[in-house]
Amino acid sequence: MIGTMFRKITVAALLMLAAAQASGQAATAPNAETLKNPLLYAIAWRQTAAEYRALYYQGFALARLRIEQALADRSPNDNRTLAVITDVDETVLLSGAYWGQLIADGQDFFDDATWDAWVPRNEFVASPGALAFVAFCEANGVEVFFVTNRDQGDATFELALGNLRAAGFASARAENLRVLRETSNKEAVQAQIRTDFNVVASLGDNLNDFARRYYVTDVAEREALMHEDAAKFGSDYIVFPNPTDGHWIRAIFGESEPSASDANREILRNAAIGIDSER
Ligand SMILES: [Mg+2]
Repeated sequence: MIGTMFRKITVAALLMLAAAQASGQAATAPNAETLKNPLLYAIAWRQTAAEYRALYYQGFALARLRIEQALADRSPNDNRTLAVITDVDETVLLSGAYWGQLIADGQDFFDDATWDAWVPRNEFVASPGALAFVAFCEANGVEVFFVTNRDQGDATFELALGNLRAAGFASARAENLRVLRETSNKEAVQAQIRTDFNVVASLGDNLNDFARRYYVTDVAEREALMHEDAAKFGSDYIVFPNPTDGHWIRAIFGESEPSASDANREILRNAAIGIDSER
């Protein structure tokens, strides 16, 4: 009995090892440094916590409720089509495989070069509830605008559209996708959409997806702005979780993509303790 169980465990372990090697992960054995990677908790939460995924269902349920209310309350004089504006990355598309690979490679900060190489692989997955939400919008005549700031060169737009379609948003149309390469300021594009459509709600994982005033490099200031907008969360603004990237990083480090340096690791540690760092 125990021998049979042992053989089953051994076979399972060998299969897992083979799968890990085939995927390129765990190719190098962890050493003491990689075991101290400051990203581990955040990524483990992203990869395993059912709560993380439940927050997406919750967000899309709120967004759907807002649309149902808007449809019911619609003025007969308002001819504008209802719409929602959604961010793309970590709102409707999840990049968990990228972050897992980063850990497997022993890195502890976001790396733009590996990100740009990863994006064309089309390994994004739709966030939980996203496909059903978009289908609900389409079934009710509500336009969904995808607004993202990305930059993978000239191919950025086609890559973003391809990522959406590969993840299951088969009906995503080019005219409903706005890709901002030069700036992360989405307000001009959002204002343009609002002139033509009755925007019911905005969806995003970064407060900058809702308003540019959140693009500040001070943690306390950013938090104070958030409290000023308290009444908008869950109504105009539907927020999704992101423990790995976004402008909350910029508030800590002064830049959105800090380099992997000991100085930045110290700033991160200070932030965790609650100490302001001199930058
Ligand atoms: Mg995002």
